Amino acid sequence: AEAELIRVQRFESLAMLAGGLSHDLRNLLQPLLLAGDSLLDYQDDPRLARLGALVRDCGRRGLEMVQSMLSFARGARRAEHVRAQALLDALGLLLQGSVPRSVQLDIEVVDPELSFEGNHTELQQCLLNLCLNAMQAMPNGGVLRVVTSKVRLEEDFFVEHEEAQAGDYVRLSVTDTGQGMTDEVRRRLFEPFFTTKEGGTGLGLLSCRRIVYSHGGAMRVDSIPDEGTCFDLYIPLTRPVVDASALVEGNTALHGN
Ligand code: ADP
Repeated sequence: AEAELIRVQRFESLAMLAGGLSHDLRNLLQPLLLAGDSLLDYQDDPRLARLGALVRDCGRRGLEMVQSMLSFARGARRAEHVRAQALLDALGLLLQGSVPRSVQLDIEVVDPELSFEGNHTELQQCLLNLCLNAMQAMPNGGVLRVVTSKVRLEEDFFVEHEEAQAGDYVRLSVTDTGQGMTDEVRRRLFEPFFTTKEGGTGLGLLSCRRIVYSHGGAMRVDSIPDEGTCFDLYIPLTRPVVDASALVEGNTALHGN
């Protein structure tokens, strides 16, 4: 389970970096290709024409590489039927080996029949990240609670998001009784590479958010120093799955916080 856990995490980080990188690179390469094409117009100056051909050929090769990186990042997710019960069962199995004696693990599926469109592997990865963070926040032990239920959200829930959509959602909550966060940590949580841990990557929560957004969902954080933290993920039940490439390519029009 430990090796599998590391593998899934590595893959997710890689897909995220590949997606972000290839998007930025493509934006750089496209004007470069245009410039190469314009140079080719100067056929009467062989030096310029040669430069043009060089820029164009390298640019094209670069674009091809970028395209394959993008399809790798996109391939990271496929839409399927996700059962809430199966999701939490799998999570329990993955966590089994890593929960210390001092931590009480509490997993509850309020509505066992609950299912929705999404990607099982990605959501599992997301919950796993949150659970590992939660355990790390409780070095002296405590309670780690994972609950999934169906909730109806009204328009004003998403008041700070443009794409506010009332509707039915699956709520996946991960709550710990750990150290909580200061306001500063709370503000910087989703910054890439932001970490307060020795050896932390600072990519876990960013990756979670990418996954939740690509499901058309939203993420909430509540935290009180010395009391604990609660992460709520909201995945729409009614909305079709969004192609992750929209996100990977920097389209942040999806709602979430
Ligand atoms: P990493 O775990 O590698 O540091 P994350 O992006 O997962 O990266 O988390 C960033 C930071 O957010 C952590 O270093 C920690 O300070 C804070 N954090 C995340 N989850 C919790 C939690 N459950 N309780 C307290 N702090 C947390």
